[in-house]
Amino acid sequence: MDLAENLNLIQQRMEAACDRAGRPRDSVTLMAVTKGQPPQVVEQAARLGLALFGENKVQEAKAKIPRCPSRLHWQMIGHLQTNKCREALGLFEMIQSVDSLHLAEELNNRAEQAARMTPILLEVNIVGEASKFGYLPERLLEELEQLNALPRLEIHGLMTIPPWTPRPEKSRPVFQQLRQLKERCERLLGAPLPQLSMGMSDDFEIAIEEGATIVRVGTALFGARPKAVKPA
Ligand SMILES: *Cc1c(COP(=O)(O)O)cnc(C)c1O
Repeated sequence: MDLAENLNLIQQRMEAACDRAGRPRDSVTLMAVTKGQPPQVVEQAARLGLALFGENKVQEAKAKIPRCPSRLHWQMIGHLQTNKCREALGLFEMIQSVDSLHLAEELNNRAEQAARMTPILLEVNIVGEASKFGYLPERLLEELEQLNALPRLEIHGLMTIPPWTPRPEKSRPVFQQLRQLKERCERLLGAPLPQLSMGMSDDFEIAIEEGATIVRVGTALFGARPKAVKPA
């Protein structure tokens, strides 16, 4: 794996997608998804200028983040259990995967105890896949006001993971629907939601064309994730 080369290529592809969409090149941030990767890889990425990192498990992040350079920005992108909220707030600057009122309330309570504000994204399961976490769109619209009333949470936008497909172009309507849902949420709240976190290794260019502000890229940067070694 040549990380510098991969990064260079991804940045060129991101810029070209911005140009195609008539968007400023600095309107999209690349998040490096480091799940399954050791701290040395994070350090290498940081040396190449990457500053935003994503992890999907609290346990793994808890072991890894303290062993990484201290100036980095970490966000949680995986399903969060309510009993891990306190730890998650200690590790992450933003929780991208808020998928229920119950979880939001627990995060709000923990943030209250820590006397801080917590930026969040609301994760949406656009097509209602049974195997996926995330708000169903109708449910999100119903609960939006209650979510917005939680004083320690700041809603910054929406996040989604489209259904897996061998043809990335198939994800375009999902990205379009997330953007439209964000616009509906903005009208309901009477306030802008600046972030749309969508697009991964196979489909980040399409996501950028459809308005992504954060793309979450793992394998296209770092190669296939090391498999966990099972004891014999
Ligand atoms: C693993 C993961 C990614 C990155 O996926 P790649 O296909 O490796 O780029 C993005 N978002 C979430 C939520 C993930 O869990």
